[in-house]
Amino acid sequence: MNRDYPLEKVRNFGIIAHIDAGKTTVSERILFYTGSQHKIGEVHEGETTTDWMEQERERGITITSAAITCFWTRTSEADKKDITKKSRFNIIDTPGHIDFTAEVKRSMRVLDGAIVVFDGVAGVEPQSETNWRYADEVQVPRICFINKLDRAGASFERSYASILDRLSPRAIRMQIPIGEEAEHEGAVDLLTMKAFTFSGKMGEEVVEGEVPAELLENAKKYRAELIERIVEQDDVAMNAYLEGKEPSLEELKAILHKAVVANQIFPVYCGSALKNKGVQLVLDAVVDYLPSPLELPPATGINPKTGDSIERHASDDEPFCAIAFKLQTDPFVGALTFFRVYSGTLSSGSYVYNSTTGTKERIGRIVRLQADKREEVEKVFAGEIAAAVGLKDTKTSHTLCDEANPIVLEQIKFPEPVVSLRIEPKTKADQEKMGIALRKLSDEDPTFRVATDDETGETIISGMGELHLEILVERMKREFNVVADVGKPQVAYRETILGSSEAEGKYIKQTGGRGQYGHVKIRMKKMEPVDLEKKISKNITREDHFEFINNIKGGVVPQEYIPAVEKGLREAMSRGFLAGFPMVDISIDLYDGSYHDVDSSEIAFKIAASMAFKEAAQKAKPVILEPIMRVEVIVPEQFMGDITGNLSGKRGQIEGMEERGMNKAVHAKVPLSEMFGYTTILRSMTEGRGNMTMEFDHYDTVPKNIADDIIASRK
Ligand code: GDP
Repeated sequence: MNRDYPLEKVRNFGIIAHIDAGKTTVSERILFYTGSQHKIGEVHEGETTTDWMEQERERGITITSAAITCFWTRTSEADKKDITKKSRFNIIDTPGHIDFTAEVKRSMRVLDGAIVVFDGVAGVEPQSETNWRYADEVQVPRICFINKLDRAGASFERSYASILDRLSPRAIRMQIPIGEEAEHEGAVDLLTMKAFTFSGKMGEEVVEGEVPAELLENAKKYRAELIERIVEQDDVAMNAYLEGKEPSLEELKAILHKAVVANQIFPVYCGSALKNKGVQLVLDAVVDYLPSPLELPPATGINPKTGDSIERHASDDEPFCAIAFKLQTDPFVGALTFFRVYSGTLSSGSYVYNSTTGTKERIGRIVRLQADKREEVEKVFAGEIAAAVGLKDTKTSHTLCDEANPIVLEQIKFPEPVVSLRIEPKTKADQEKMGIALRKLSDEDPTFRVATDDETGETIISGMGELHLEILVERMKREFNVVADVGKPQVAYRETILGSSEAEGKYIKQTGGRGQYGHVKIRMKKMEPVDLEKKISKNITREDHFEFINNIKGGVVPQEYIPAVEKGLREAMSRGFLAGFPMVDISIDLYDGSYHDVDSSEIAFKIAASMAFKEAAQKAKPVILEPIMRVEVIVPEQFMGDITGNLSGKRGQIEGMEERGMNKAVHAKVPLSEMFGYTTILRSMTEGRGNMTMEFDHYDTVPKNIADDIIASRK
């Protein structure tokens, strides 16, 4: 079976937005317009988009699907039925809330591009900045859409300025609005110098016209700015331009396309999704400027057998490799594993190798979700996105590949959970259900972790914030019917060392029969941040927070006991020396020891290692670490003094203040332990007019007096 669609016509993209900026509305309009290309006649008099969405919901597919496929033909293309003109869009869902960093990061990883939606009244909001930074990290090409221009108080200029100022000076306007607030009708496209307005019940008819006289002067001015910015990207075009020759429209678009793909330019569009204005032109921009999978750098990974780096290109002829990016339950089909194929092809009914776990999985059915149906496909090709039904052991971020050509794709890096709480099932039956529910939820979300307290046997869950855990507990109750008592949120403290030390651990017992003999000498120091992807020699184990170097010479500790030593060290690290919090960022060098021909055993070496660890940790200036959050509070000016005073009282560091529309924004770094329940405090301090967002920034040493309190409370 051959590919049904040329890869250069595929666009995998997401819609990124601050909550309330209009992501849902934009997505609904996209599904409507893309579906409407063959269905527009079916929308009857009096029917609204909402009715249409209701019908979609009844079919059981909503825009909350992890990925949805639709087709788009550029507005200007004459023949909408001509398949060779169509592009295939795979729209990948990205979550709105900041507590779901994992989801945002994970989805960014599989996006080839994004539409970033802004509220035309508020402009850039704190969360847009965070998301923009994530997109920068993975270099996702972006198109901006300033939405809600119909709202009272909306301003394209102000929102555009906030993008330039707070996100990137490389943003450039492609349009200017025709009217704002109640007068908003459409936009002038600066490249073509045409005015676009929208008529029909759903704005489905895109009407092209002349630029209104009163906008002509501005349009010319901003067009010149745009053309200059584009030609700057290309020496040949630049020279021609300096000699007075403007490149053709096609040339300009080609240069712009390249620049967008390279993250050198972020084109800015505008409109109102709710009032059906502008969305189609953004879809044209997706076709024109966002990359197809062919234009991306190759996927990189490691051969799990040899440790060598491998590259895979978006070609059907290379061995299969894909990444699972989302598990989701579909009411009709059951458990779906969404995956993005980087190279090769995969057929339904075949076997695939999960190189992350080292297990084989059978691919039952493969489906693609469309707005109005679940399409079953026999085969998926490089660059595509689809979902497999019935995979058993594959979780989010696992690599699936050809067993004969194994590769583990570069892991998605997730921030670590900073808040935890205890959770206790009401009955024995709940206990069982809870186990299943928690396992499922943590499979779906890598920043949600479940652990058992060794001493009390209680279950502890941890995540990215109070809200994150609240929602997960809520889902556990609602979707899995678990009745449970939930404790207060606690800060996920850690311990580490500031100094370095040496220690010896000796576990020797000679009490009749067979004795015990384990003896090791270690050096301990703080682990420097390292590049985990880098190949290292085989006597070093390296993870995010732990490094173990086996420096044993001449077999003074026999090779067979080395894993036991490492295990003993890890176990000792899991309960810190000061207050029992897990220890992090420690590097251990095992450099000496001894053994006994008869009495030595794995267990003896494990105990000796853990004894050595404890002694070394004690001598190496142990400290407690706490999560510090990046906080932004937005309040009317009259409350500024109270807010900054209050934050300073919370050991917060005020890092800056700025105007934010009619309000002031305060930036601060504050320890998480001081921030529980802050939304309630903020509300009462500001007569309900303050707003805040908070996000993990880094771990820092807890001041001595507070550390003493923490230690005392844990005794
Ligand atoms: P999301 O939270 O980003 O998914 O945002 P929604 O699409 O749910 O929109 C949030 C609110 O803004 C809803 O009440 C929408 O009806 C409204 N909204 C969305 N787009 C527009 C728009 O273009 N103009 C106006 N006036 N309201 C809009």
